[in-house]
Amino acid sequence: MTTELNVTYCENHPHVESTLRCNRCDKPICVKCAVLTETGYRCKECVRSQQKTFDTATWIDYLLAVAIALILTYIGSLIVFRIGFFTIFLAPIAGIIIAEAIRRAIRRRRSKRLFQATAVATAIGGLLPMLSVLALTGLSIGLGSLFFFIWPLIYTVLVTSTVYYRLAGISL
Ligand SMILES: [Zn+2]
Ligand SMILES: [Zn+2]
Repeated sequence: MTTELNVTYCENHPHVESTLRCNRCDKPICVKCAVLTETGYRCKECVRSQQKTFDTATWIDYLLAVAIALILTYIGSLIVFRIGFFTIFLAPIAGIIIAEAIRRAIRRRRSKRLFQATAVATAIGGLLPMLSVLALTGLSIGLGSLFFFIWPLIYTVLVTSTVYYRLAGISL
């Protein structure tokens, strides 16, 4: 009898017994509705409203981040044409430098969309020299030019992933 009284039901699913509570608003939630965050279980509404407050980037941040990513990655990719194999070691370092430069420019503001836009700008910056070479040679890609492009391609992938994960990976 007493146990019956203590049974709570999920607010979103009135027929499902709740085994958890959101640790922010204390709402009873079922396993389906619970989202495991770094600080414990939360309801979807709380997670959503929190994500909104984390999206603090302004349009200036977008402008700065995209410009820095584009310019620095482009400069780096020009160097890659000269250093070849050493790209493997230098690309992650370049990624860290670019990510730090962007982080300083946008201060502590953050947003997932901003980081995604930055990653796209990084990829474009890395591919730009290749695209201009392709445009100059009239898109005649032979086996030789594929070999020529292998390092810029590796560079672009390494730098883009390094920049994105360094920016987005900062603990919330
Ligand atoms: Zn909640
Ligand atoms: Zn539920």
